[in-house]
Amino acid sequence: MSRTFRERLLPHLERIADHFDTPFHIYDEAGIRATGEGLKRAFARVRGFNEFYAVKALPNPRILAIMHDLGFGFDCSSIPELVLSRQAGAKPSDLMFTSNNTSRAEFGEAMAHGGAIINLDDISLIDKLPAMPELICFRYNPGPRREGNAIIGEPQRAKFGVAHDQYEEAYRRARDRGARRFGLHTMLVSNELDYRSMVETTRMMLDWAERLGGSLGIRFEFTNIGGGLGIPYESGKAPLDVNALGEAVTGLLAEFEGRNGYAPAVFTESGRYMTGPHGVLVTRAVNRKEIYRTYVGVDACMSSLMRPGMYGAYHHIEVAGKSGEEEVVDVVGSLCENNDKFAEQRSLPRVSDGDLLIIHDTGAHGHSMGFAYNGRLRPQELLLRADGTVERIRRAETMADYFATLAFEPDSVSLNGG
Ligand SMILES: *Cc1c(COP(=O)(O)O)cnc(C)c1O
Repeated sequence: MSRTFRERLLPHLERIADHFDTPFHIYDEAGIRATGEGLKRAFARVRGFNEFYAVKALPNPRILAIMHDLGFGFDCSSIPELVLSRQAGAKPSDLMFTSNNTSRAEFGEAMAHGGAIINLDDISLIDKLPAMPELICFRYNPGPRREGNAIIGEPQRAKFGVAHDQYEEAYRRARDRGARRFGLHTMLVSNELDYRSMVETTRMMLDWAERLGGSLGIRFEFTNIGGGLGIPYESGKAPLDVNALGEAVTGLLAEFEGRNGYAPAVFTESGRYMTGPHGVLVTRAVNRKEIYRTYVGVDACMSSLMRPGMYGAYHHIEVAGKSGEEEVVDVVGSLCENNDKFAEQRSLPRVSDGDLLIIHDTGAHGHSMGFAYNGRLRPQELLLRADGTVERIRRAETMADYFATLAFEPDSVSLNGG
């Protein structure tokens, strides 16, 4: 959570909670815009640089409108994400369609309505496209050549991308089937705070541009170096040095241009870096239970935020308006799942029923990852606008939403006889 977001939010938190009721995620428009402008400044000397916001991180139309306003494109992995992005005003050149295990129907939709930049995840998918688009790229998986990182795992065990030995053949086939314009793509890390790994990734992809330029005569329009730029979830950790990244990438491109007479543009597709620190989950303490451990029960659960339960991810928690003597507690939701915990054995000021807890850095992969297990529904989303208004940008799910899929046309097939 940025210092400025905290300063803008905390004095008004009780009033917001009284007005909208809890729980809710609230996002900071000014913070998102500042991060976007900072990213553009860092890559200002990279010709054609663009960020394609990873829609899955925070697929809310009001947030996508901010990204569009910043001049960013969108990275989509499903049809609903494409539809949301097109509704936000994205042109075909603003859309990357990067999916995995994709169906023919999905490719059909991605290539309709003017299309998108199609990023293929496997060589076999060339034959499943309805037609060869003019512009194509393939996601590269270097296997044992690179290490990846803790969250995304070793490339060798990752289901994503085209293997090293198939990469050249993929471009050759696409060219032979009529593709005329080409890009490169990879994504190797997740929540990585060391900018040097993205520099290595850029170098690796520029090597490919050079190699395939030689063997196939292809001039690449861009290389997309993926998302995965990290944010410091733990207070005291240093943030990613995006300026150093921009500078190093600018240097690599200048060297490339010196050797090849041109340089591809560089694209990123960050989700977390763009919105992660600019959202928090606000939830009220409703129960306190002392058994073998002390449990603080809150009115949100995994339906609002899966990351702690799913990956053991750390999210900083503060109790609004409280400091002083601390106690060690588990902060829990209400699911019949013992991993429904926002924090385990966390030192917090003593929490009483009614206190507001602020769970930091939920602006990416927070609300969007929620589910409705146990009939626990997803919460509302609010936006703290740059003009100082707080606006509801998604209502909480209701029981009617939960039951919506039970209203359907009766259908059956008899397996007896015939
Ligand atoms: C998830 C994802 C991203 C965004 O990842 P962050 O860690 O949020 O930056 C970008 N590109 C692809 C293909 C993804 O699957």
